[in-house]
Amino acid sequence: MARVLVGVKRVIDYAVKIRVKPDHSGVVTDGVKHSMNPFCEIAVEEAVKLKEKKFVKEVVAVSCGPQQVQETIRTALAMGADRGIHVEVSGKDYETLGPLQVSKIMAALAKKEEAKMVILGKQAIDDDCNQTGQMTAALLDWPQVCGGLLSNPPGARLTVPFSGLPENAVRATCALCSLRLNTPRYATLPNIMKAKKKKIANVKPADLGVDLTSRVEVLRVDEPPQRQAGVKVETVEDLVAKLKEAGRV
Ligand code: AMP
Repeated sequence: MARVLVGVKRVIDYAVKIRVKPDHSGVVTDGVKHSMNPFCEIAVEEAVKLKEKKFVKEVVAVSCGPQQVQETIRTALAMGADRGIHVEVSGKDYETLGPLQVSKIMAALAKKEEAKMVILGKQAIDDDCNQTGQMTAALLDWPQVCGGLLSNPPGARLTVPFSGLPENAVRATCALCSLRLNTPRYATLPNIMKAKKKKIANVKPADLGVDLTSRVEVLRVDEPPQRQAGVKVETVEDLVAKLKEAGRV
């Protein structure tokens, strides 16, 4: 039976109001609440469901980043992942860590762990890249299941390769998309306690033969422009008049 890797990213919590650093080099992260990327919660839930249905044997949660990402891995373990891998990336390397570097790590780990499937979130809510799944699939030369899944009937998407296709087809990089794909379970207190005993291995990118050099340079980060207040009009005539005034028609 198969082993599945799930990528879990630690991001600024979705409810936090993002602030740009005064020097415009990035956003403020110090003292800001972080959580597991919501799409990664969905990925963990999907992987754990596959295990409960006995389609996979082991769920391994992987996170790349500094020491703090171990908390994110622990959350995945409390949700039902079996063990974790912390890929240590810090300092300058962490600042420039992007989809290409993470996908090189994921691809190397998938080979090392002899995983049959890599399940990732559709996107991380901090960079909104939506690239890591696609790049991981390309690097591994595996089929990928991504955005289009939304229109599939529930349950069909991941179970099909497992139940309906030969063993050698049980390989997919899944960029799981919809917030409606499933409802991630809460980590209950007993499971949080149990998760403390589960193992998290520490790995360095160099151990995986991955070079973290980035070719992306951030020039400047700015707040999006403030939206102007809208105007309400009573009638279609008023609307047309306003549009004419604004030179739109
Ligand atoms: P992105 O392509 O950056 O939008 O991220 C898509 C998905 O890739 C996330 O939902 C995660 O599953 C995975 N991912 C991205 N960055 C990391 C990271 N640093 N550690 C673990 N998984 C990651």
